[in-house]
Amino acid sequence: MLKPKQLSSIQQASIRKLVHYAYRNTAFYRKRFDDAGVRPESVKSLDDMSKIPFTVKTDLRDNYPLGILAVPLNRLYCLHASSGTTGKPIVVAYTRGDLERWSRLMGRTFDVAGVRKGDIVQNMYGYGLFTGGLGFHYGARAVGAIVVPTSVGNTKRQLMLMKDLQTTVAACTPSYMVYLCEASRAEGYEPRKDFVLRIGLFGAEPWSEEARKRIEDSFGLRAHDCYGMSELCGPGVAIECEQREGLHVWGDEFLVETIDPDTGEVLEPGREGELVFTMLSREAMPLLRYRSRDLSRVFEDECACGRYHSRIARIKGRSDDMLIVGGVNVFPSQVEHVLMNVPGLGDQYQIIVSHEELDRLTVKVETAKHRLQDPELTKTVQEDLYATLGIRANVEFLEEGTLPRHEGKARRVVDLRPKE
Ligand code: ADP
Ligand code: ZN
Repeated sequence: MLKPKQLSSIQQASIRKLVHYAYRNTAFYRKRFDDAGVRPESVKSLDDMSKIPFTVKTDLRDNYPLGILAVPLNRLYCLHASSGTTGKPIVVAYTRGDLERWSRLMGRTFDVAGVRKGDIVQNMYGYGLFTGGLGFHYGARAVGAIVVPTSVGNTKRQLMLMKDLQTTVAACTPSYMVYLCEASRAEGYEPRKDFVLRIGLFGAEPWSEEARKRIEDSFGLRAHDCYGMSELCGPGVAIECEQREGLHVWGDEFLVETIDPDTGEVLEPGREGELVFTMLSREAMPLLRYRSRDLSRVFEDECACGRYHSRIARIKGRSDDMLIVGGVNVFPSQVEHVLMNVPGLGDQYQIIVSHEELDRLTVKVETAKHRLQDPELTKTVQEDLYATLGIRANVEFLEEGTLPRHEGKARRVVDLRPKE
């Protein structure tokens, strides 16, 4: 395990090298540095990080598809693209070295979660342009596990294979795993008896502690939160260790900072803000101080597991997921937190924002047939939502099986307000 001194000396050496590399090899960073009046040699240590200008999502879109390439095309090994949840996709390029590094990081990620040689990993992340599928595939390979590349969807077949192959590790989005809890029972399985899952690797979208509990109670597995994004290769940026008190960010590869999303001011560790990442040894597409738009906190104290890689709290959401309803900030993850704490509600919900003179928030959630008109339940949910969000919401109960299920990242918000 890396000691703090080793970690910081790797970081110090890498940042200097990276800044020169990006300046020398990409017209994009040359211009960015020149425009900001920053000489690459002025970044001598981690203390000089704040001199480096930020890179943002639109920089990648403006330079679509391969405008920030630092190597000739013939050195590329593969290309991926982000899932495009929030707009035009971003193309990500890898050299052979980048791909190997990513696989190693994913291997470590699997290892930290306890996946071992001989484990059977059912990889239900989408294979294709999305980095989730192949990223988790490489991770399973790197630890010597047996990977079953089922990809997303075809729930009946997923469950059949999960039972027949005696899958021990499930990898998918947490919302899909929550759906599998319900689907497995509907298909007549007894999840704790029929399946032998012991570990879950869930990520690619925000999820709550309550969702974790539902998944763990249903399947009897240990669920780990995994974090990453296409721009930084894909999954494998951060993972919960056995303590599950925050996600360790691999510090020999990623520098993480937190900033105030409105002012760009760097925040002290522990304060909530937007995460900013610098990937230290990237060849094809270096990214310096990349603004993730994800909101979290960084803590640097030593973890009980003994690792010195600093940790981030579970992601609250993206700054652009945040809804402003009648002037109040609402994160879908807060709504999930409330709903999953009310006994008697199903797992599926939808958040609808509309505007009739005033903004209105409606939360639709599934429940059992006999509770659809239950005034007590309505009151509880409304009060709990009010206590957490600070605004009144309409609550509608729907019969189980009514709301759309998602195989990849869930889309829970429907914003019906006219666009300005
Ligand atoms: P897109 O931005 O098009 O969805 P990606 O597939 O690269 O493309 O998604 C990366 C984003 O997914 C992250 O920036 C973050 O918002 C979200 N994400 C990934 N892992 C997690 C996680 N463990 N918890 C919360 N959000 C996550
Ligand atoms: Zn730890």
